[in-house]
Amino acid sequence: MENRILDGKRVGQEIRSELKEKVDAWKKAGRRPPGLAAVLVGDDPASQIYVSSKVRACDEIGIFSEKITPGADATTKQLVDLVRSLNDREDIDGILVQLPLPSHVEEAEVLDEVDPRKDVDGFHPKNVGNLVLGRPCFEPCTPAGIMELLRRYEIPLSGARAVVVGRSRIVGKPMAALLTHRNATVTVCHSRTKDLPGVCSEADLLVAAIGRKAMISDEYIKEGAVVVDVGMNRVTEVEEAERVFGGDERRMRIVREKGSTLIGDVLPTAMWERASAYTPVPGGVGPLTIAMLMSNTVRASEWRTGSPGD
Ligand code: NDP
Repeated sequence: MENRILDGKRVGQEIRSELKEKVDAWKKAGRRPPGLAAVLVGDDPASQIYVSSKVRACDEIGIFSEKITPGADATTKQLVDLVRSLNDREDIDGILVQLPLPSHVEEAEVLDEVDPRKDVDGFHPKNVGNLVLGRPCFEPCTPAGIMELLRRYEIPLSGARAVVVGRSRIVGKPMAALLTHRNATVTVCHSRTKDLPGVCSEADLLVAAIGRKAMISDEYIKEGAVVVDVGMNRVTEVEEAERVFGGDERRMRIVREKGSTLIGDVLPTAMWERASAYTPVPGGVGPLTIAMLMSNTVRASEWRTGSPGD
């Protein structure tokens, strides 16, 4: 089967360049740059890596960023007060609270405090409601990035049968809403779905957002389907790598030399053999998530202070 790689790395870079041009023009016109506050609570290593790459992306585009790092013992009240103070700041257009928060913190109380006009992650109930209603809002970055990728590759959605596996509030649910707005016929699957391979194998567009290493194999994928693999799972064992990467010597070498590599929710050989187009892992959905966070921050600034051309 002749298939196309949906290159999220390239598209993510394209989006970032477009944003940089916009912000440069904005600065030339004497306007202040957009501003993003990133709240990183505690010292979770994965969260530290994510926040660093978001800050780096801001630097590259010319967005002002401020990293705020309360200790792991911060209370819900302290974080709520912090978010309120960021809501009041004129130079901050977007507020990002890196998840997960420590288990003693009431996550919803903190997230619900973010001013919906600064909610660049799109997690506030007001943005979630507007998303479902099809009104202007901040769309969660991962599904928004996938929609942008599908748009730029001109993947037809109207009337297409789409199956989304996963119903999280960050990926699966908003993905289903966005695809519905683009006139796809959407089925949402989850851990209780009966005959998952049967349902998936009817999809023209299959989106896997599960968090299970290479779970989606040949029998889930209709010949010629478009497959979007959101999963980001780490493989550390050589035996497991052999199972999921088969004869791919390049990936096997990475596992042997570096001790781990990333695998999505879809078996790479299954996408290669059956899909007409698919997102690789890494280099597919991941880079789009950060690009869309940047895009939402620029939009937040436009909404709050007027467009660069004003
Ligand atoms: P969650 O754990 O919040 O949700 C997983 C979903 O998958 C749930 O709805 C769950 O069903 C469903 N599920 C779990 N096991 C099965 C199964 N055996 N069969 C069918 N459905 C199942 O994960 P997220 O949505 O946050 O993330 C999903 C994946 O995407 C992860 O690998 C994550 O790392 C990755 N991710 C990648 C991003 C990127 O930028 N590339 C961004 C965000 C996430 P149920 O509701 O019934 O429990």
